[in-house]
Amino acid sequence: MGGYMEEEWEWNFLWRRPLFDNEISKAINFLQHVESKVIQIQRRDDWVWTLDPSGQYTAKSAYRMMMGGATHGTQDRDFEELWKMKVPTKFAVFAWRLLRDRLPSKTNLQGRQVEIDDRTCLFCKNAEEEAGHLFFHCTKIIPMWWEFLSWVNNVGVFPQDPRQHFLQHESIVVDGLRTNRWKCWWLAVTWTIWKKRNDIIFSNDSFDINNMMEEATFLTWTWLRNLEKDFVIHFNQWSSNLREEGFVYH
Ligand SMILES: [Zn+2]
Repeated sequence: MGGYMEEEWEWNFLWRRPLFDNEISKAINFLQHVESKVIQIQRRDDWVWTLDPSGQYTAKSAYRMMMGGATHGTQDRDFEELWKMKVPTKFAVFAWRLLRDRLPSKTNLQGRQVEIDDRTCLFCKNAEEEAGHLFFHCTKIIPMWWEFLSWVNNVGVFPQDPRQHFLQHESIVVDGLRTNRWKCWWLAVTWTIWKKRNDIIFSNDSFDINNMMEEATFLTWTWLRNLEKDFVIHFNQWSSNLREEGFVYH
């Protein structure tokens, strides 16, 4: 039974406050560990998932836990939409942190009394590194979002708030927009940005927007293959024709 208590403690420990990057793999391992568990009736001392009356792990109860017991209201819609995408756990966890502004950006670290000498964005070196800037408004990054608008033949101003940015398909009017594909693109772009930012800081990598576009496109394609039954188009064919049929119905 000891294992259960420990795990429960870890679970609470990890989800009840913002996570640092080095804790994320721990959280993901834990989720995968729990997901792989099979409850065996004949054994007395075993796992009990206390968040669901059945004692069995369910994605829904884990989701409720991640919401911190919040009641379902409009402000949780972002996470509901994210959950429906069925992307691998690590991506969902990343997006959840971004949507709740819990990523350790330089500004957030400073807020937690971590001394940061230089808080400027390392892409443009011209503004403070907080989520709204880093992911959506940095002049080095914004071409990735513009590119998407050109694919769906639209122009617009992007919301600064991560949540509104994610849910903007509800307000922008694009004929025949495939909203699931927009959400996959959104997650792929933000993931790619965070990964590049960390690679620059920790691995001396350099900024390369073409490389990031390629990576985000490929990620989107892999998720769509899981999400849409009839999405069987070859990557090269799909990625070279994004303007025509990548993100809108015809
Ligand atoms: Zn910047």
